[in-house]
Order: sequence, then C-alpha cells, then structure tokens
Amino acid sequence: LTSRLRPFTSTIFAEITELARRTGAVNLGQGFPDTDGPEGMLRAAQEAIANGVNQYPPGAGEPELRAAISEHRRNRYGIEHAPDGEVLVTVGATEALTASMLALVEPGDEVVLIEPYYDSYPVAVSMAGGVRRTVPLRQGPDHRFRLDLDALRAAVGPQTRALVLNSPHNPTGTVFTDDELAAIAQVCRDNDVVAITDEVYEHLLYDGREHHPLATLPGMAERTLSISSVGKSFSATGWKIGWVCGPSELVSAVRAAKQFMTFVGGAPFQPAVAHALRNELGWVEALRTGLQRKRDRLSEGLAEAGFDVLASEGTYFVCADVRPLGFDDGAELCRSLPERIGLAAIPVQVFCDNPEATKHLVRFAFCKRDEVLDEAIRRLHKLK
Ligand code: PMP
Ligand code: GLN
Repeated sequence: LTSRLRPFTSTIFAEITELARRTGAVNLGQGFPDTDGPEGMLRAAQEAIANGVNQYPPGAGEPELRAAISEHRRNRYGIEHAPDGEVLVTVGATEALTASMLALVEPGDEVVLIEPYYDSYPVAVSMAGGVRRTVPLRQGPDHRFRLDLDALRAAVGPQTRALVLNSPHNPTGTVFTDDELAAIAQVCRDNDVVAITDEVYEHLLYDGREHHPLATLPGMAERTLSISSVGKSFSATGWKIGWVCGPSELVSAVRAAKQFMTFVGGAPFQPAVAHALRNELGWVEALRTGLQRKRDRLSEGLAEAGFDVLASEGTYFVCADVRPLGFDDGAELCRSLPERIGLAAIPVQVFCDNPEATKHLVRFAFCKRDEVLDEAIRRLHKLK
C-alpha cells in the first residue's frame, strides 16, 4: 500500500457498523435513514429499469438530470449553472469530492480542511498528493461550534489551492453563519483559492435556518465547485448519485478526472433523481420537519441520560460530551459501547488532526424511526 493511503486503511464507519452487527447493537453510528425515500422516486427508478435505461448514460450525466439540478439551484438559491458544461453527475458526493481534488491539486499544494472533517476529505487530498492544513471549529460557551477565523486566515496563503467547506456540517451539526461564510469567501478571494463546498445536507436545516451556498457570495460563483447528492435529501444513501456544479473550466477539469475513475454510474437512478428534484421537495420538507423532531427526541433523551448535549442545527447528527458520565475518551467509549449497553455511536476525534480538542465528544445519528431512538435512549440510561 502506498504512503498516500497507508494512514487510511480502515474507516470508523466500517469498524463501528461491523461491531454493531456482531453485537446486535442499536446503530446510531453510520448516518443512514431506516425508512425509504419518496414513492414516486422509487417508482421512477423501477420504471427506468423496466424501460431499458440500463446502459451507460452520457459522460456528464443524463441531460434530464443535469437540467433538473440546474433548475433546482436556480429556483432555490438563484444561481445559474448551464446544464451543458457547468453540471456534472458523479457517483455520489464522495466521487465529486475526490475527482475535484485530483483535478485541481498539484503534488505539494495545500488544501484547507475545517476540522472535525468528513472522513473522505483528507484521503482525497492525500491521493492527489496534496498537503492538508486544518482549521478548527471550536465549541463555544453557547453549546455551538464556531469557526476560528484567525486560524483560518493564518492557514491560507499563496501555497493554498483549495478549501473545503461542509455546511450543514458533519459531524457537529453546525450550520455556518453568514458572518463565517463571508469570512471564508473573503479569504478565498484574497488568496485566489478554489472553494469546494459539500452541501449534501442542504435540505436538512432546523429551527427555520436557511442554507446559503457559498457560491452565492460576491465573487464566489467563479471560484466554487458546489457538490451535493441524492442520499440525504431523498433518503437514498445507497443510490450514490451526486453532482458538482461550477464554472465550466473547473467542472471540465473535474470531469477529466471522473471519466477515468468510474466514467459514469447509476443509469436508471438518474431519471429518478431528476423526478425527485422536480416533484418531491414537499416530501423533503416533511422529512426535514420529522428530523427536527427526532433531533429533539434524541437530544432530550441524551440529556436525561446524563450527557452534556451540543446544539445540532442541521444534518442527521447531534454531538454530546461524555465527561459528565465519568468518561474522558469518546473513542474508547464508542469501542466498548456496543458490548456494554448494545448501542453504537461514532467518536468525533477520529475526524481531527488534533484529536485532543474533541476527545470527549461522541456523535449520535437521529435519522432513525422513533421506536429505534427510544430503545437507544433506554439503553443509554444504563450508563449512569
Ligand atoms: N459528505 C458528507 C458530509 C457526508 O456526510 C456524506 C455521507 N454521508 C458524504 C459526503 C457522501 O455522500 P455520498 O453518499 O453522496 O457519496
Ligand atoms: N456519511 C455517513 C456518516 O457520516 C457515512 C458514510 C460512510 O459510511 N462512509 O455517518
């Protein structure tokens, strides 16, 4: 195995999911819903298969899907992306992220990640031969995380090629504020940095918050690759249809990498995702309302079980401090939790270059049926 990949041989999701399976634990680790997406979307995929949409789709993605992605970005955020040239369909957001790194980053270039970071980002940087610099999100006294803006400004310079922004943010559930977005945009403009935005949770914001894509800020459309996917918005994480939108020069660079990674993927799912983006946003709104209630249900349960619960403003996740229960290491706790009480969760420190700052935090997924959440809460009470 190359030195590029050696630090990344196993993923925490595979490890904890396997542990949960072996012990029969309730799995609030890996973030995936336990109910299906909109029926019309599922039917559209079945019909596509029955109607012979089973061969290679066009390299950039089915024109119908690219048009639907473009319309969605225009209607929701007022951003224009030409379906031909400024939209590329990928195998999930994961491929879009990795292909973006391979397309843009020269060996030795620096890429700024905000930590905790989603686990595929550092691997993608490393595969491209890049060097990552991390900027921390810090836990504030108000129980939410905020970006360390001084650290951001210090991390970015002439050596920086790209910055990755994920809002709403996995694993913390933070939605970046307009001030934070403005500061990130300024740093990108001042240093001629490309922003790669991971917007897979773009529809899952709570308490009336709205998603503001970084590409809508002044001077950012021309330097941003905006990435999203079907998985979270439409409860179909196994479909792996993603997309990246941006200026044609950047998108065609990503396409150059993507075409030799997978070439294309998911033919019959593509028209179904187009259907979903055009017709199922009402379904998504009900999903959002339901998830907000689940966030409250699990957050309250965690607090009653003795955890210090942090604010979750979006995503599938809520983080909790395990110290009030007498533990000091979230990773140790998560590795013993399945056997101890029959519950699986994910330690936050594994998403950090500096694990000390988040050593005490554990991430719980609330994208599960209420009875599953209630059983999880019942088991968590056994920790006291
Ligand atoms: N980014 C983030 C922040 C995620 O949480 C996930 C998946 N859960 C992904 C990317 C991957 O998305 P996809 O399944 O579309 O590849
Ligand atoms: N994105 C999901 C999570 O954060 C997991 C994806 C994966 O298993 N790689 O839980």
